Amino acid sequence: MSGLFVKRLSLLRKALSAKNVAALLVTHPPNVFYLCGFSGDSGTLLMDQQRTWLFTDGRFTVQARQELQIDARLVISPGTLANSVGEIVSSRRMKVGFEAGHMTVAQMKVFRQAAGAKPRWVALSGTVEALRAIKDVNEIERIRDAGKLASRTLAEVLALLKPGIREFEVAAEIEYRMRRRGADGPAFKTIVAFGARAALPHARPTGKRLRKNELVVLDLGAILAGYCSDLTRTVYVGKASARIRKWYDAVRQAQAAAIAATRAGALAGDVDGAARHVLAGARLEKYFVHSTGHGLGLEVHEDPRLARNQKHSLHAGNVVTIEPGVYVEGIGGIRIEDDVAVYADRTEVLTDAPRDFLEL
Ligand code: ZN
Ligand code: ZN
Repeated sequence: MSGLFVKRLSLLRKALSAKNVAALLVTHPPNVFYLCGFSGDSGTLLMDQQRTWLFTDGRFTVQARQELQIDARLVISPGTLANSVGEIVSSRRMKVGFEAGHMTVAQMKVFRQAAGAKPRWVALSGTVEALRAIKDVNEIERIRDAGKLASRTLAEVLALLKPGIREFEVAAEIEYRMRRRGADGPAFKTIVAFGARAALPHARPTGKRLRKNELVVLDLGAILAGYCSDLTRTVYVGKASARIRKWYDAVRQAQAAAIAATRAGALAGDVDGAARHVLAGARLEKYFVHSTGHGLGLEVHEDPRLARNQKHSLHAGNVVTIEPGVYVEGIGGIRIEDDVAVYADRTEVLTDAPRDFLEL
């Protein structure tokens, strides 16, 4: 059993005893992967203080044997996974935690029925996620690789931004090129927004054609070896007005201020505040309609969140995005986003696409 996984399981067991639960049912696929290495899409992990079980079905027998990194009992369920879990827990009068944020009411009902009256189910949330928020060096290396892949793809597709191309064509090119570079796939639906559509922070690519003198927002991320990157750049096609340049400079400075504020021990709300303060100075704060960033790892949005007034502090091992933006209805939007790793005494920006204002 690899040392990495031994450490994860032992930290989780400590967290469970602190919460006074005897066992935990892990159903969220990224959490299952994090704890045991199995990446199949049908898998449930059960662990108590001594033992671990991985439940899957016959389609994943070979994969589970190949991927399983821990000393767990592999159960190939003949029926539903819930019935197999039920066989193990039904005879035990104990508290079993479940991942309340990742189960539907209907799914939980199936587990309750299969387990009978003895186990007491306890809704937990964020238990495995709290461990995942602290990355080790190998995880940061994977995010760095995913960040480089996204950065190179972005640099490559800038050449395609000629008047006449459609948003969905650029999105398709980005996703195709990321896969050609070895990505498992996009980390989220790629955002490509031209002109006034760039004012929508989560614009879905449409058939809109690029025209001269428009802003272009590209927000893309790759999954590489299981880990996500998330990168946004905004460029201008044509010659930008003084106003657009001023906005761009403000967003860039807001991002630089937030990156400078990012460090182990800083409060998440203060990192967010650093970006907001710069935008307020440029009278753009009301156009910054989302939070400054989010954690990044096996999922593209994870802990810690960097939003207004948040009191939790950052820790060495966190990887977060820093992505301030301004969005002005009818005109367009500007966002600059990079991925930043937090170490005990420094930070590292993992994405490396240029941030200078580009007029194409
Ligand atoms: Zn993004
Ligand atoms: Zn993001």
